[in-house]
Amino acid sequence: MHDEAVDIVIVGGGPGGYAAALYAHNFGLSVALVDNERPGGTCLIRGCIPAKQWLHIAEVYSTVSHAAEFGVVTSQPQLDWSAALAKKNQTVEGLVRGLTGLLKKRGVDVVEGFGVLAGPGKVEVASNEGSMLLEGRSVILATGSHARTIPGYDIDGTRIVTSDHALDWPEQPRRVGIIGGGVIGCEFASFLTDLGSEVQVFEMLDQIIPGSDPETAKALQRQLQRRGAKFHVGVGVGPAEVGPSGVSIPVGDEKISVDVALVSVGRGPNTEGVGLESTKVELDRGFVNVDPNTMQTAEPGLYAVGDIVAGTPQLAHVGFAEGIAAVTHIATGETQPVNYDAIPRVTYTHPEVAEVGITQAQAAERGLDVETTKHAFNGVGRAIIQGQNQGHVKVIADKGGPIVGASVIGPQAGEMIHELMYFVGWEALSSEAATFIHAHPTLSEAVGETLMSAAGKSLH
Ligand SMILES: Cc1cc2nc3c(=O)[nH]c(=O)nc-3n(C[C@H](O)[C@H](O)[C@H](O)COP(=O)(O)OP(=O)(O)OC[C@H]3O[C@@H](n4cnc5c(N)ncnc54)[C@H](O)[C@@H]3O)c2cc1C
Repeated sequence: MHDEAVDIVIVGGGPGGYAAALYAHNFGLSVALVDNERPGGTCLIRGCIPAKQWLHIAEVYSTVSHAAEFGVVTSQPQLDWSAALAKKNQTVEGLVRGLTGLLKKRGVDVVEGFGVLAGPGKVEVASNEGSMLLEGRSVILATGSHARTIPGYDIDGTRIVTSDHALDWPEQPRRVGIIGGGVIGCEFASFLTDLGSEVQVFEMLDQIIPGSDPETAKALQRQLQRRGAKFHVGVGVGPAEVGPSGVSIPVGDEKISVDVALVSVGRGPNTEGVGLESTKVELDRGFVNVDPNTMQTAEPGLYAVGDIVAGTPQLAHVGFAEGIAAVTHIATGETQPVNYDAIPRVTYTHPEVAEVGITQAQAAERGLDVETTKHAFNGVGRAIIQGQNQGHVKVIADKGGPIVGASVIGPQAGEMIHELMYFVGWEALSSEAATFIHAHPTLSEAVGETLMSAAGKSLH
């Protein structure tokens, strides 16, 4: 047994787990945080952060490549892949160190090892040093997720890989087949294309970034295609044929040869082998059912947050919000439910796609009668200055009622989405939102113009 019982034992040190651990200090709660790696989870170590670093490297490369269009003449840039990889590693290391320091400062007891539920309030932790039993008034499970694959695509880490491997490729792959055109697949397609790899994306559904606004998704596909990426949308792939020099991907009557197949078909929950079978926890295809008001499972005192939760988006900031909700309930008995309708969802491709609230299709499912207003970036001064004036802002509002959703594709869409997040979250009317004037010249003027049009009086 660890020295003494704590208020909360948290299993998993990714965004869900570490946010819960950090937030607990607001209530003076003691915390033990168990992770079988260093704190940071998928997000910091092999997810959000390294992927965005590669995207930024591609943006720098692309900016320099096109500098002459702005009268800045340079020689064609050379990509030093090893230096780029080192930059990615440096960023990850810095953030993991920073997080470790912050957890220490907040008095969180970080315990290295694999945690398994061992009865109410108890977690057995196994590590190289042996095992120990932790005890807490409450337990939060935040064990996260892993990359899935499909039949015929056995991950070998060389020819058939997941994002885990692809973020650490020691050399730039020449020809990449990306299986799955969701957010992760499209982000890889974007940066690999910009860095000069030949990329083909295979998506079984009828649009890329499934679930997003179809027009926005199509606009992204067109922009990536223009830069050289190839898309096979609405087609299933046959089992990969792996040879000594590459992989052949069967699609219909064709076989497409690539050097490596990157499988990005979604992420499964890490809920096996963590002792759930001895609890009252209810699972839905491996994901944990919770009371969305509290994040508590059917087992009293046992909470779940982050990617393992059933039916909520697998995003780092959703993990943060769920961690906060769980800790608030543990500390106060009060509920602070996550407003899932106002969670921004960003695809950090070039250009970025950012959405919040519901799409037109989801509005129809909810029986809402909505109207959609769109404003293109092509006349927006700041976008023209930057040479990135393709894309649009789309606002979806309940007829005669509040703004219920928005979809943006364009430069820095991931930053711009936040003002729309407030309007969706606060259920603002378009007429209320349109009273604010945006600074000129900014990219956000596209949002302002859309809101004015949505309110019935357009400007430009
Ligand atoms: C390539 C990629 C890019 C992404 N980009 C973004 C993005 O831009 N924005 C965004 O919001 N999301 C992004 N995501 C998703 C994001 O990473 C996840 O939603 C987030 O990390 C989930 O947090 P979590 O705390 O639930 O789990 P995780 O981050 O998966 O962390 C779980 C932790 O628990 C540990 N663990 C598991 N089981 C045990 C156990 N039994 N005992 C001890 N420790 C255990 C794991 O080692 C891990 O450290 C991306 C994901 C990937 C793969």
